[in-house]
Amino acid sequence: MIPEERLHLRRLLLVVDDQKINQDLLGTILGNEFDLIYADGGREAIDQVMLHKDMLSAVLLDLVMPEMDGFAVMDVMKADEELARIPILVLTAEKTAELEALGRGASGFIPKPFESHEIILARVRSFVELAEGRRLIHAAECDPRTGLYTKEFFFSYAEQIERFHPDWRMTEFALRISRYRLLRELYGQEFLDSVSRALAQHLMENAKAAQGICARASEDTYYLFLRRGCVGLEQIRRLQQELNTLREHMDLRLDAGMCDIERSEMDVRRRFSCAEAACAMVHQDHNGELVVYDSVMHEKQLYRQRLINDLPRAVAEHELKVYYQPKYDITKDTPVLSGAEALVRWQHPEFGMIPPGDFIPLFEQNGLIGRVDLYVWEESARQLQKWREQFGTRFPITVSVNVSSMDIHMPGLEEKLNRLVDTYGIRPEELHLELTESAYMEDARLMQEVTDHLRSMGFRIEMDDFGAGYSSLNMLSTLPVDVLKMDMMFVRRLSREDSREYRFIEIVHDIARMLDIPMIAEGVEDAVQLELLKKIGCEYIQGYYFSPPVPAEAFEEMMKGALR
Ligand code: C2E
Ligand code: CA
Ligand code: CA
Repeated sequence: MIPEERLHLRRLLLVVDDQKINQDLLGTILGNEFDLIYADGGREAIDQVMLHKDMLSAVLLDLVMPEMDGFAVMDVMKADEELARIPILVLTAEKTAELEALGRGASGFIPKPFESHEIILARVRSFVELAEGRRLIHAAECDPRTGLYTKEFFFSYAEQIERFHPDWRMTEFALRISRYRLLRELYGQEFLDSVSRALAQHLMENAKAAQGICARASEDTYYLFLRRGCVGLEQIRRLQQELNTLREHMDLRLDAGMCDIERSEMDVRRRFSCAEAACAMVHQDHNGELVVYDSVMHEKQLYRQRLINDLPRAVAEHELKVYYQPKYDITKDTPVLSGAEALVRWQHPEFGMIPPGDFIPLFEQNGLIGRVDLYVWEESARQLQKWREQFGTRFPITVSVNVSSMDIHMPGLEEKLNRLVDTYGIRPEELHLELTESAYMEDARLMQEVTDHLRSMGFRIEMDDFGAGYSSLNMLSTLPVDVLKMDMMFVRRLSREDSREYRFIEIVHDIARMLDIPMIAEGVEDAVQLELLKKIGCEYIQGYYFSPPVPAEAFEEMMKGALR
């Protein structure tokens, strides 16, 4: 179907004939319906075709002309990728030339001498419409830049293959040109188009060899649907290498994902989205350049999806449990219990106790983390109130909660925290907010604004995982922080005074002292570490040496024990 608006558009035709009288005649016949341009010979024809290639609907071409004849014009046009698309209608008096003209690219004829005007008009009209219809169908099937199938057409083709060959085992690959946008910025669209075309060529060859098909699924992503047994992973690796050597010194990389799930398990579209998901994982947690999406990964994805779906229920039904890990003041002779870090777990009715590592990063990715954190903050505030009522001023305990870097963007963050403090009648000083060092790096200005505000409201800010990120000293001196929390990594490797870790922690402590803020070391697992940290002058410690995170009741027992 030709779209309505195209039907009302006047098409442009090029009439090539060395006889002026023929030009005039065709002008009279076609001029009412078409826009016409003319060329008296072959060379001029080529010039005109080049000039108007994007707009030309057809070329009406005389065969016999001096200097450059019609055949030579066809040869030139056929050799050029863009010009070859323009349909050619040959004007000829010789029946014998027709076969040769067809072979060299003509797609129709108008016999000379010219028949009745109506017949010629009708011929040209139907010829142009037919050619456009074909081109439109082709456009729906194929990506114009590479000539590969479009995603939709590819899928219907793939479905057909599966229908006709129920016994074939197929493999789905998704391939993506790595860092496409960056490359575009660096080298331009034209460069990437040439890379895409070259890659498409390789893909087509591979598909052909493996009785399969390929498509350009999006600007940087390609699909390959290949018959298993015809294709090995080496072939994909070779493709990756081919792209790499396509343009020297450019570090072109092809990420690859493969789906290894049986056809009975999911339909072809879903298998390709799995291949694409695998491809997207190349950067994240795999060093290789080909990730296989298999049933293990599928289970993992399903598990993650379940967690996402179940979160609202978990919040409503109090399946999230807050555990407390004690913090000790080690500046006195004996360590003194001084506070706790609130750490969340998920008591899932089906999966059992889920550690935060399973769901915190997941929810940080998809923006659900705020719901978890709000829950934990409220639970901690409620617990603080309870302990205050129970122990009064005999035990001035503080609770530190984790604030994900995403929470900084939470609308009304300050009001929400304020409301908690009001509702549970606690002082903001009792609630410490742990922010990771990396969060400071993400958006330093916003972070500074928000933390400034929170501090002015009375909350204490702890910089979590310090040393794991890349803070500059300059940033440290300007940031509003009340406590520096040394990253566990350094403490875990701390076993001797004469070591890099010891010196590193010592330097960080010097900085903290210079800024007049205490340091807390977490992940302390043995007495040696405790002694070394004491020697450095570290003020607080937290770690398995004293206790893992425990439920509120168990923590309460520790408090009672400390009072005895
Ligand atoms: P984090 O904030 O650095 O918390 C410290 C983690 O180290 C906790 O793991 C804790 O159980 C563990 N840990 C404590 N002492 C030791 C030790 O001596 N040795 C070793 N090997 N580990 C120790 P957990 O509870 O599994 O939490 C992991 C991470 O999950 C936390 O790291 C934090 O980033 C995140 N997280 C936990 N609860 C929350 C929460 O409510 N909100 C947010 N946003 N993140 C949370
Ligand atoms: Ca923390
Ligand atoms: Ca930490």
